[in-house]
Amino acid sequence: MSKKDPNYVAKVEYAIAEKYGDETIQNPKANWNEEKEKEYLEQLKKVAKKENTKKDKNEKIKVEGVLINRKLINKKGKRKCPVCEIYSFSGQDDMYMAKYECCFKCYVQYVEDREERWNSGWRPKNEN
Ligand SMILES: [Zn+2]
Repeated sequence: MSKKDPNYVAKVEYAIAEKYGDETIQNPKANWNEEKEKEYLEQLKKVAKKENTKKDKNEKIKVEGVLINRKLINKKGKRKCPVCEIYSFSGQDDMYMAKYECCFKCYVQYVEDREERWNSGWRPKNEN
Protein backbone atom coordinates (compact mmCIF):
# COMPACT_ATOMS: atom_id res chain seq x y z
CA MET A 1 0.00 0.00 0.00
CA SER A 2 1.52 3.31 -1.06
CA LYS A 3 1.84 6.00 1.56
CA LYS A 4 1.15 8.55 -1.12
CA ASP A 5 -2.29 7.12 -1.59
CA PRO A 6 -4.64 9.95 -0.54
CA ASN A 7 -7.14 7.37 0.65
CA TYR A 8 -4.57 5.59 2.81
CA VAL A 9 -5.72 7.00 6.13
CA ALA A 10 -9.33 6.44 5.26
CA LYS A 11 -8.54 2.85 4.38
CA VAL A 12 -6.71 2.28 7.65
CA GLU A 13 -9.49 3.87 9.66
CA TYR A 14 -12.03 1.80 7.84
CA ALA A 15 -10.03 -1.34 8.55
CA ILE A 16 -9.93 -0.48 12.26
CA ALA A 17 -13.65 0.27 12.42
CA GLU A 18 -14.38 -2.90 10.58
CA LYS A 19 -12.18 -4.91 12.96
CA TYR A 20 -13.73 -3.43 16.06
CA GLY A 21 -17.19 -3.99 14.70
CA ASP A 22 -16.49 -7.62 13.90
CA GLU A 23 -14.72 -8.56 17.11
CA THR A 24 -16.79 -11.66 17.65
CA ILE A 25 -16.25 -13.03 14.19
CA GLN A 26 -13.46 -15.56 13.94
CA ASN A 27 -10.71 -14.81 11.50
CA PRO A 28 -10.61 -17.64 8.96
CA LYS A 29 -6.82 -17.57 8.75
CA ALA A 30 -5.43 -20.65 10.46
CA ASN A 31 -2.34 -18.95 11.86
CA TRP A 32 -4.33 -16.03 13.22
CA ASN A 33 -4.78 -15.67 16.96
CA GLU A 34 -5.92 -13.04 19.42
CA GLU A 35 -2.38 -11.96 20.14
CA LYS A 36 -1.67 -11.34 16.50
CA GLU A 37 -4.91 -9.55 15.98
CA LYS A 38 -4.18 -7.26 18.91
CA GLU A 39 -0.76 -6.49 17.53
CA TYR A 40 -2.21 -5.87 14.11
CA LEU A 41 -4.77 -3.46 15.48
CA GLU A 42 -2.12 -1.60 17.46
CA GLN A 43 -0.07 -1.21 14.34
CA LEU A 44 -3.04 0.04 12.39
CA LYS A 45 -3.80 2.59 15.10
CA LYS A 46 -0.21 3.75 15.20
CA VAL A 47 -0.05 4.16 11.45
CA ALA A 48 -3.36 5.99 11.37
CA LYS A 49 -2.22 8.34 14.13
CA LYS A 50 1.08 8.99 12.41
CA GLU A 51 -0.57 9.68 9.10
CA ASN A 52 -3.03 12.06 10.72
CA THR A 53 -0.30 14.03 12.43
CA LYS A 54 1.69 14.26 9.24
CA LYS A 55 -1.34 15.40 7.32
CA ASP A 56 -2.05 18.13 9.84
CA LYS A 57 1.51 19.42 9.80
CA ASN A 58 1.64 19.60 6.06
CA GLU A 59 -1.78 21.03 5.72
CA LYS A 60 -1.85 24.16 3.66
CA ILE A 61 -4.29 26.83 4.59
CA LYS A 62 -5.61 29.45 2.26
CA VAL A 63 -5.08 33.06 3.27
CA GLU A 64 -6.40 35.71 0.95
CA GLY A 65 -6.30 33.30 -1.94
CA VAL A 66 -2.72 32.21 -1.31
CA LEU A 67 -1.86 28.75 -0.08
CA ILE A 68 0.65 28.64 2.72
CA ASN A 69 1.92 25.87 4.93
CA ARG A 70 0.27 25.95 8.35
CA LYS A 71 3.56 24.88 9.90
CA LEU A 72 5.14 28.11 8.70
CA ILE A 73 2.50 30.25 10.35
CA ASN A 74 2.55 28.36 13.64
CA LYS A 75 6.30 28.50 13.82
CA LYS A 76 6.66 32.15 13.04
CA GLY A 77 3.49 33.32 14.69
CA LYS A 78 4.77 36.83 15.06
CA ARG A 79 2.18 39.40 15.94
CA LYS A 80 4.27 42.50 15.64
CA CYS A 81 5.52 43.76 12.34
CA PRO A 82 9.26 44.45 12.66
CA VAL A 83 9.02 47.18 10.04
CA CYS A 84 6.14 49.39 11.19
CA GLU A 85 5.93 47.91 14.72
CA ILE A 86 2.18 47.48 14.54
CA TYR A 87 0.53 44.49 16.17
CA SER A 88 -1.72 42.49 13.95
CA PHE A 89 -3.98 39.53 14.51
CA SER A 90 -5.24 39.08 11.00
CA GLY A 91 -4.56 35.91 9.06
CA GLN A 92 -3.53 37.99 6.10
CA ASP A 93 -0.78 39.73 8.05
CA ASP A 94 0.22 36.35 9.48
CA MET A 95 0.88 35.12 6.00
CA TYR A 96 2.96 38.10 4.96
CA MET A 97 4.77 38.03 8.28
CA ALA A 98 5.71 34.39 7.73
CA LYS A 99 6.75 34.94 4.17
CA TYR A 100 8.28 38.43 4.15
CA GLU A 101 8.68 39.27 7.86
CA CYS A 102 6.42 42.28 7.57
CA CYS A 103 2.69 42.96 7.63
CA PHE A 104 0.49 43.28 4.57
CA LYS A 105 0.64 47.09 4.59
CA CYS A 106 4.41 47.03 4.65
CA TYR A 107 4.42 44.42 1.94
CA VAL A 108 2.40 46.68 -0.35
CA GLN A 109 4.51 49.66 0.54
CA TYR A 110 7.99 48.18 0.44
CA VAL A 111 8.04 44.67 -0.96
CA GLU A 112 5.55 44.41 -3.79
CA ASP A 113 7.30 44.61 -7.17
CA ARG A 114 10.60 45.04 -5.31
CA GLU A 115 10.93 41.60 -3.82
CA GLU A 116 14.53 41.29 -4.89
CA ARG A 117 15.57 44.34 -2.90
CA TRP A 118 13.60 43.10 0.10
CA ASN A 119 15.03 39.59 -0.09
CA SER A 120 18.54 40.99 -0.24
CA GLY A 121 17.97 42.41 3.23
CA TRP A 122 16.96 45.99 2.53
CA ARG A 123 14.62 47.48 5.15
CA PRO A 124 13.04 50.98 5.31
CA LYS A 125 14.56 51.67 8.71
CA ASN A 126 15.52 55.27 8.12
CA GLU A 127 12.51 56.27 6.08
CA ASN A 128 9.16 57.56 7.11
ZN1 LIG B 1 4.23 46.56 8.93
